Amino acid sequence: MRPLPRSLDPLPDETLTGFILRLAHRTGTTPGEITIRTGLAPHNRPGLPTRLPLGSLHHLNDEHVNTFADVTHLTPGEVTGLLLAPLGDRYGPLNPALTPRRTPARMIYDNPWVLTRSTRYCPPCLAGDRDAIQDTHGGAWQRLWRLPVVFLCLRHQALLQHECPGCGTPVHSVRTANANAIARLSDDALHPWQCRFPTRPTPQHQSEAACATDLTRLDPPSAEPDTVTMTVLLQLQQQLVDLLTAGGPETVMSAGAPVPAAHYFADLRATVAMVFRTWPVAREYASTPCLAAALDTEYISRIVQAEPLLNTPGKKKTSKPYTTPPIDSLATGAVLDIASQLLQAPDSSEARKRLTPLVQRLRDADRALSTYLRRPAWISQPLRAAVKDNWPAGEKLAA
Ligand SMILES: [Zn+2]
Ligand SMILES: [Zn+2]
Repeated sequence: MRPLPRSLDPLPDETLTGFILRLAHRTGTTPGEITIRTGLAPHNRPGLPTRLPLGSLHHLNDEHVNTFADVTHLTPGEVTGLLLAPLGDRYGPLNPALTPRRTPARMIYDNPWVLTRSTRYCPPCLAGDRDAIQDTHGGAWQRLWRLPVVFLCLRHQALLQHECPGCGTPVHSVRTANANAIARLSDDALHPWQCRFPTRPTPQHQSEAACATDLTRLDPPSAEPDTVTMTVLLQLQQQLVDLLTAGGPETVMSAGAPVPAAHYFADLRATVAMVFRTWPVAREYASTPCLAAALDTEYISRIVQAEPLLNTPGKKKTSKPYTTPPIDSLATGAVLDIASQLLQAPDSSEARKRLTPLVQRLRDADRALSTYLRRPAWISQPLRAAVKDNWPAGEKLAA
């Protein structure tokens, strides 16, 4: 593999796919060509289209890291910094101890707490911060936008977007099973900030063209939340981003005792599932009427998703619609507001007091899910203590 004649410095918190899009734009080639030149596309596929496996967003083996670094003039550390895996140090849903998987590559599969098949984004951030390189090639497609717990841009104090304003598709959508981490790998006409989804075919026009909407475009905001709600969400997002940032607080209170940051995000994941599955038991914890209303709406959509599963023969996955974080940024902020307040209890007895109504309701409504959520390799010890005492004697906790 020969080094490219020129490269780019990675931007802070940039994803691998975002870096490849900017580098292809800078060198006047296709993203597919970059993946071949850097050794990321699978070898020995003569005649087959180039493919960038979805898992490369999350993890690359040492050989891939070193080759990519050599060809792009980066250090191996800089390449690793483009991946999602290192976020697992502080983010439980990507941490092998709290989200067990057989191999690192499997971490992203069946894991709704990381966005691999689309991303959220902030239009002004994508437009760049007015330096020459970003003006030309766009700002970073950020790694944190791939974590459902990030729903708001602290810099621009606005909720993140998730759909293309042109075609309404989730941005950077990946749909097929054998998915590419970048759509339209062989398209050299699109700017890194343009929508890559195919335009919908019309009767006159069986188009294979891309939607190509400029995603930095700022449409007039549709009903922004009120100021009090935005203040609540900004504080919450600041706290969560601080916890995700290397050098941020090492521990945080969860269910009455300090836990490492990664455990806290695992506890949020379990609490969010409890809140949805038992809604409206925790509704009183919503900080504003706007947030409560957002969750009423979100809950109805969960019921609609769960309904057809009830009548499906075979293994039922009726819990699944309740355990995934919302796609919508406001609903995400709303449920995390409640979950964080439930976990914020100053001591273990207060934690039990806050969580008991949810635990009891969940036990009645969905025993399989209540056992699943209490697994040791899923939540912190303090949260486990807060939820287990409420269980009838003799009932075994899941291993
Ligand atoms: Zn922004
Ligand atoms: Zn589009």
